[in-house]
Amino acid sequence: MKTTNKLPDWCEPLMAWFALAKRQMPWRDNPTPYAVLVSEYMLQQTQVATVIGYFQRFMKQFPTIQALANSSVDDVLKLWEGLGYYSRARHLHQCAQAICAQNNTAFPDSLEALLKLPGIGTYTAAAIASIAFGKKIPVVDGNVLRFWTRLHEDSASIDDQTTKRRIFDSLTEIIANVSSPSVFNQSMMELGALVCHPANPDCANCPLQAYCQSFAHHTAQSFPVRKKRQAIPHYHVAVGIIYDDDGRFLILQRGEQQMLGGLWEFPGGKLEKGETPRKACLREIKEETGLAVTVGKELAVIQHAYSHFKITMHAFACHLNIDSSPLTTDRPNHWITTDEIPCFTFPKANHKIFTAMQKHY
Ligand code: SF4
Repeated sequence: MKTTNKLPDWCEPLMAWFALAKRQMPWRDNPTPYAVLVSEYMLQQTQVATVIGYFQRFMKQFPTIQALANSSVDDVLKLWEGLGYYSRARHLHQCAQAICAQNNTAFPDSLEALLKLPGIGTYTAAAIASIAFGKKIPVVDGNVLRFWTRLHEDSASIDDQTTKRRIFDSLTEIIANVSSPSVFNQSMMELGALVCHPANPDCANCPLQAYCQSFAHHTAQSFPVRKKRQAIPHYHVAVGIIYDDDGRFLILQRGEQQMLGGLWEFPGGKLEKGETPRKACLREIKEETGLAVTVGKELAVIQHAYSHFKITMHAFACHLNIDSSPLTTDRPNHWITTDEIPCFTFPKANHKIFTAMQKHY
């Protein structure tokens, strides 16, 4: 590896490119520990362009970590609605409470202390430590792994922890010699996001072209190497919008420990083998609520993809039978009108059902 002033020769061109090409982001203008914390939680699994609006609304409602710590988790989830991966919202809220309780609002600034906070893994801890506190700790995310493996024609699988650890160790040696760890880390991530794209790297406009082994050998598309992934499962789900005689419908809250924990939904669940969506809807409602209903019109068939599976959701208008047993469920529940929908936080797939409900009623 050629070096200049102890740094590999690609580092200075990378940081010079970043100074000119970096995108405007509200948390970059004033990278306080709190702003960096919120942005890094939001950026997990989510594109910058999507995060910006959420970040601005979040900071307006919770301008300080104390304001966030003193809020209710339902208010945090409402602001997060549509951003997905809702455990991040709950973890961020817990994180604010932990910081305010344990440290009298002084932010932990070491990797070890940050890693103890809820929902913070190695990448997020390194990002906060370097960007907010100038610590010389490298970030190793998907963008960095991609540009690094292409730069060096590194053919080890990036799904292996040993590969990530080795790249982290190499970057740790490098970052020890840079004057701004924040700029160095953000430069690598920005290059991966803006130039060294997964499918079509823009090598013609890359500041690292002269140093890149993959460019020299036309092998960029072969990196990074990944293990073969298993096919994503696809589930069929049936849900019922159970209307009472006053036009209100039933919603149930998901358990804290579940995926989409704390959000609200219609009763329903997965189809069993050989079962029709209509029959599954009836069975699930009986099992989940004890209610006897008549399953009516199919309002919508929604396709939705989560990170590890896809669903086809069949949504039926149901009517509560006059002789139904009372509602029996341990889960928090409400009978609401369409006007009250904004008072609760629902998964994205449900919002597609709301549109169909408005056409129906
Ligand atoms: Fe990626 Fe191409 Fe730049 Fe190499 S030259 S780092 S493959 S964009």
